[in-house]
Amino acid sequence: MPLMKKEVNDMDKIRQFGNQMYYRMAQFMYGRNGLDALARTCNWIAIFLLVINLFVQSSIVYLLWLIFFSYSCFRVYSRNIPKRYAENQKFLDMTTVPRKYAKLAKLQWRDRKVSRYYICKSCHQQIRVPKGKGRIEIRCPKCNERFIKKT
Ligand SMILES: [Zn+2]
Repeated sequence: MPLMKKEVNDMDKIRQFGNQMYYRMAQFMYGRNGLDALARTCNWIAIFLLVINLFVQSSIVYLLWLIFFSYSCFRVYSRNIPKRYAENQKFLDMTTVPRKYAKLAKLQWRDRKVSRYYICKSCHQQIRVPKGKGRIEIRCPKCNERFIKKT
C-alpha cells in the first residue's frame, strides 16, 4: 500500500532530524575517547549497581554507582586518547582470563544443545566437546593435558 504524501514528508523529516543528530553527535565525539572496553565495563557495573540500589537503597551503593558512572562518562568524553588507550590496554591485559571465561559462558549458552566447552586448567586453551557422550577423557590439543569430564 503506497504511503500518503504527508506521511512520506513526515518520515523524511524524522530521518533528516536523525541524520542531523547523528552528525552533531559525531562532531561532538570527534577527538574524544568514546566507549572503550573499560568504559563499557564501568557502565555495566553502574547499571548493575543502579538495579541493586532499587532493592537495598543504600547510600554506599549510590556512591559506588556515582563513581562508576562518572568514571565511565569521563572516559567516553576524555580528549586524552593516548592515556585512555594505555589504561584500556592495561585493563584488557589484567582481565584476559575472566574475559575468556565470560566468552566461554556465552558460547556455552549459545551451543547448549549440541556442545560443551571447557578450558584446559594448565594452558587455558578452549576445548569444544560434543554433548551427551557421558563421562569421557578429554585431551587438550595444545598441551596434551588429560582430564575427565561428564558431557
Ligand atoms: Zn592445555
